[in-house]
Amino acid sequence: MTGMRFKLLEPSTIDEALDFLAAADVPILAGGTDLLLKIKRGLIWPEAILSLHRIPSLYCLSYEEGTGLSIGALVTHVRVAQSPIVKEKFPALAQACALVGSPQIRNLGTVVGNLANASPAADSASALLALGAQVIVRNSSGVRQMSLPDFFLGPGKTSIRHGEIIEAITVPEPLAGTASVYLKLGRRQALEISICAAALSARRVQGHWQDVKLALGAVAPTPLLLPETASYLEGKEWTSEMLEQAGRSAAALSRPLDDQRASAEYRREMAEVLVKRCGLALIESAAGRNAHE
Ligand SMILES: Cc1cc2nc3c(=O)[nH]c(=O)nc-3n(C[C@H](O)[C@H](O)[C@H](O)COP(=O)(O)OP(=O)(O)OC[C@H]3O[C@@H](n4cnc5c(N)ncnc54)[C@H](O)[C@@H]3O)c2cc1C
Repeated sequence: MTGMRFKLLEPSTIDEALDFLAAADVPILAGGTDLLLKIKRGLIWPEAILSLHRIPSLYCLSYEEGTGLSIGALVTHVRVAQSPIVKEKFPALAQACALVGSPQIRNLGTVVGNLANASPAADSASALLALGAQVIVRNSSGVRQMSLPDFFLGPGKTSIRHGEIIEAITVPEPLAGTASVYLKLGRRQALEISICAAALSARRVQGHWQDVKLALGAVAPTPLLLPETASYLEGKEWTSEMLEQAGRSAAALSRPLDDQRASAEYRREMAEVLVKRCGLALIESAAGRNAHE
């Protein structure tokens, strides 16, 4: 471990932050649960870091009916996990954020930091992929927006360029009847990076499932959206056999690695299982909703 000595830059507006970034290539600090660990471990040794903490607008978590959710760059996992509107409208995201690390990590770590760190296993990433989220990026010439499949380039790599700041993530309003779920497999209950994770979103219209979106985590160099498997499930009334077939399709499309936490083969098997379980969970939630109507 190395000592942590760096200059802390603390702008109070995004424009001021962009000016700092234009002048020097310094890392951006949100909750620090990934960044400070990298510094402590001596993986990077910046002379300065740019903290976003004095920029009030970045703490905003807001929802507007018909438009959707906006998650500012300093919104922590705990706030998202505990938000009644996120639990109601975007359950997969609330479930994913509730499963990040431990209470301490969820109190410090932000959803934007989770995406920017670009771990293939990032919990919020697969949930946000299945919910069709966009990343809002600020740079000196204005704002650019991108979908998550364009954002993730590889392990630790995103399409954020030097001089840019992620301002927020937006999640579109789900269409009526949409349900979503996130399931994660780790080796322990807490403080566990996922071995495999799956997120599924779809809406039930007259007994059939539409607008299906499926994503997997920890089974490829980036969190993975699986449109092929989703289109197999689209417009159908799901049966157990169909969900098994979808699981096999998702597993075949995944590209997991062997590492110290799990073999590639085990990850593929678990992808198959989690996809089926996500489908069953949506069927169950639809049945629960009908029983209440
Ligand atoms: C003990 C432990 C357990 C963990 N468990 C989990 C887990 O179960 N699941 C999981 O997904 N993760 C886990 N993590 C990883 C980490 O907590 C999350 O990735 C967290 O969400 C990172 O957010 P942060 O705000 O702390 O990011 P930071 O560490 O502040 O930043 C992370 C990266 O994003 C960049 N960045 C941050 N904000 C911006 C921005 N606005 N614009 C551009 N770049 C930005 C930083 O420069 C840095 O490269 C764990 C970490 C620890 C230490």
